[in-house]
Amino acid sequence: MESNILRLAIQKKGRLADKSLELLNAAGIRIDNYSQQLLIKAQNFDLELLFIRDDDIPEYVQDGVADIGIVGENVIYESGKKLDIVEKLGFGKCRMSLAIPKFSTFNSVKDLDGKNIATTYPKILKKYLLEKSVNANVHYISGSVEITPNINLADAIFDIVSTGSTLKSNGLKEVETVLESEAVLVANKNLSDEKKELLEQILFRTRAVNKAKNNKYILLNAPNEALPKITDLLPGVKSPTVMPLAMDGWSSVHTVIGEDDFWNKIETLKNAGAEGILVLPIEKIIA
Ligand code: ATP
Ligand code: ZN
Repeated sequence: MESNILRLAIQKKGRLADKSLELLNAAGIRIDNYSQQLLIKAQNFDLELLFIRDDDIPEYVQDGVADIGIVGENVIYESGKKLDIVEKLGFGKCRMSLAIPKFSTFNSVKDLDGKNIATTYPKILKKYLLEKSVNANVHYISGSVEITPNINLADAIFDIVSTGSTLKSNGLKEVETVLESEAVLVANKNLSDEKKELLEQILFRTRAVNKAKNNKYILLNAPNEALPKITDLLPGVKSPTVMPLAMDGWSSVHTVIGEDDFWNKIETLKNAGAEGILVLPIEKIIA
């Protein structure tokens, strides 16, 4: 009989490793005595973790060695493996771009016709060039792609960019974004019903955590005559809570608001009469 433990592959070491464990932890899934073991069972959930290199995750999940995985979209597309992308996780964000020496001219990707482009991601690049009908030579390089134009090995590169400082220090400029990527939860296409159910439970929890992350709980005091205007500004999950203060004619307003929304509305709230505004983090939201 097939076992009913869901096996999750995550990156052993690297940019996604800590964030993946943090997400599980925030979702209440306890992974104790994490050491250098390859496979660990969660303490309080039918889940086991398989720690591997991120490049191996798509294949492991496609082949069913792992049931689900956490990996960057860039790695999935480059692998060409067939997986279900179940959920974007909001971390490990980066973009993949074309870059050229800073004094070269660039009007469009068409300028790369006949040129040499170095990359660690030939599959994604070739697909893009094909879509744009650009006929360039793609050279696979396993690392330090950004130095290839300086040693005349390439006219352009295609690589991951986060701040652009690596490009700059190598005398390159970013000229075209090809792909935006973030960490995603992926699943094998043929999960049993029992495993699908476990996956749903994990998703329910991680969604509650991620939703909470983008929202704040805010409390403020306001004179009663300002309440209509203030409650109008603050929709909340359903509607704000309004409670009388001990001081006559004043109330306290509690609500949930998106962090960006809060910064946009703060001045208007103050002008409407809000005082003593407190902003608190939220752990989970089950809407
Ligand atoms: P492994 O040893 O597991 O193969 P790696 O060196 O290939 O690790 P990392 O550098 O840890 O990979 O990056 C893992 C993922 O993090 C990338 O595939 C990408 O999705 C994402 N990422 C986010 N920002 C960046 C960045 N600035 N540079 C590289 N990857 C980034
Ligand atoms: Zn890797």
